[in-house]
Amino acid sequence: MTSNPERSTNPIAKMDQVEDFTKQRYRKGKSESEFRQYDAKASPGVAEFYRNNHERQTLDYVLAKEQEYFGLTRGKKTVWEAGEYLNTLVDDSDPDTDLTQIEHLLQTSEAIRRDGHPRWMVLVGFIHDLGKCLGLYGEPQWGVVGDTFPVGCAWSDQVVFPEYFASNPDAKISEYQTKYGIYEPNCGLENLNMSFGHDGYIAEVMKPYLRTEALYMLRFHSFYAWHRHNAYKYFENEKDKAMLEWVRKFNPYDLYSKGHTKPDMEKLKPYYDDLFAEFLPAKLDW
Ligand code: FE
Ligand code: FE
Repeated sequence: MTSNPERSTNPIAKMDQVEDFTKQRYRKGKSESEFRQYDAKASPGVAEFYRNNHERQTLDYVLAKEQEYFGLTRGKKTVWEAGEYLNTLVDDSDPDTDLTQIEHLLQTSEAIRRDGHPRWMVLVGFIHDLGKCLGLYGEPQWGVVGDTFPVGCAWSDQVVFPEYFASNPDAKISEYQTKYGIYEPNCGLENLNMSFGHDGYIAEVMKPYLRTEALYMLRFHSFYAWHRHNAYKYFENEKDKAMLEWVRKFNPYDLYSKGHTKPDMEKLKPYYDDLFAEFLPAKLDW
């Protein structure tokens, strides 16, 4: 991974770095003990990212951001327009590829399609990262990407870089530091306030239109502590238990489907036009 300081203001460079780090963490065939062998020295940029993320994602911050964005008052866009908008985040962190954001999304969705999964899941593949447009609205990278976790209750040590939570102001609020915090046992993951980022935002945009399985894939795709490490089980309700397998089914496509081959946009466009029209209105509220 190149880290050219001149590019440090590029809003997507760090996002891709964080994603590459996640891919490495969950490299196929890696043992659980190997998994734990990451540290701040090995990936200073990513460690700095998570230090900011863990220190600043407080319950108050999350509630304020949900208030700001979940009303979906940022205008109407088609799915293609949302993709084009995301394309303006130019990714020059990887000199080996000149793939646009839309092309990256198509790699994920095409891999799902090739494996014969239902059409709604192909759609999820294409849209799951469209919420990264939060970076274009001016949100800091630590408020857009990275692993997500519940706020307002004790942090699990299964969240990546858990040591950075010590400096989060919520650490001093005893009500938020009990196992259940402000929540009830088995209250359901959808009733937790998750750290703010692109996952929760895209799930809000798509909430009126997609089935529960799809919304879980969108909302919880970065909640690795839950779907990979079985943390926070005590908040699960029956619905969460049923949905976990779907979130897990989606995860490999998020982690491993991106390559360097350019998808043929011209050829694929009609299929995706039909797919979007099948599930979504022409214009969505963002
Ligand atoms: Fe994502
Ligand atoms: Fe993704």
